[in-house]
Amino acid sequence: MIQNKAPGKDVSPEDLKEKFPLAAKKDIGHFSSFDVAGVTFGKELIPIMAGPNMVESEELIVNTAINVKKSGAHFLRGGAFKPLSFPYRSDKYNETREDGIKWLGLAKAEANIGIITEVMEEKYLDLVCEVADIIQIGSRNMQNYPLISEAAKTQKPLMIKRHYGASLRDWLGAAEYALYEGNSKIILCERGVSSSHTHRDSSRFLLDLQVVPAAKELTHLPIAVDPSHATFWRPWVESMTLASVASGADSIMLEVHPDPPNAAVDPLQPIDFKEFSNLMIKMQNISSVVNRKVLNA
Ligand code: PEP
Ligand code: MN
Repeated sequence: MIQNKAPGKDVSPEDLKEKFPLAAKKDIGHFSSFDVAGVTFGKELIPIMAGPNMVESEELIVNTAINVKKSGAHFLRGGAFKPLSFPYRSDKYNETREDGIKWLGLAKAEANIGIITEVMEEKYLDLVCEVADIIQIGSRNMQNYPLISEAAKTQKPLMIKRHYGASLRDWLGAAEYALYEGNSKIILCERGVSSSHTHRDSSRFLLDLQVVPAAKELTHLPIAVDPSHATFWRPWVESMTLASVASGADSIMLEVHPDPPNAAVDPLQPIDFKEFSNLMIKMQNISSVVNRKVLNA
């Protein structure tokens, strides 16, 4: 009879040895750390990635870059290529693609800040690599293995967002595809999972903070959390961000927009500049309790 030794959705000891030996910790204290644009992931610092959902315009992205940098953010986030859930577009609700990448480059130079941005298709990898310090693999592409492999081959750091329906086992499998290409700068990002109850009719996901200690038990890779996409609701972002820091998150991604209600995409979730700068201070306070820090120096 044919037997699958480890068919479960949870991680077995065999998985650690045979399915994702590169992502698995070698011993209990094994945590990898690496530098990205002068910022260290996986050590005491909790790098903060902040910015709008979409790179809407040059003015918006340059303004946001300057403001989040002033508050201490380490990376500017923003998508020029976006996995929008439905195919219909208006002038405002439209990916900015090549223009968006160019504007990210301007924002990077203007604010002297690292960039994380998403790639959805292999054919745009060269373009995205012109500005990205970290390539984001969005949750919807977590199991697009050819894309992950090609992105990993660029040797740029990758952040792989967890699909909202994926087990920890599947998420580590995705990381293994990237590590297998010889790229060791891999960050994993929890961004909310599907569940039967999400506490509010506008909310879509449940922030799975339990996956942070669970992942860190098994993998040496830094674990980021994105409370903005998880909550989908601005009033919940602060508390869930602080809880993420307390849970042991190694990095935080936040949506920040100068005028949240008028954001082109997902206007319910971004916080504004003032809320972001206050949250940076609160994160710094919480991080000291878990022997980490958020602000440089
Ligand atoms: C994003 O970060 O802009 C995004 C689309 O996130 P996710 O892939 O987690 O939905
Ligand atoms: Mn989004």
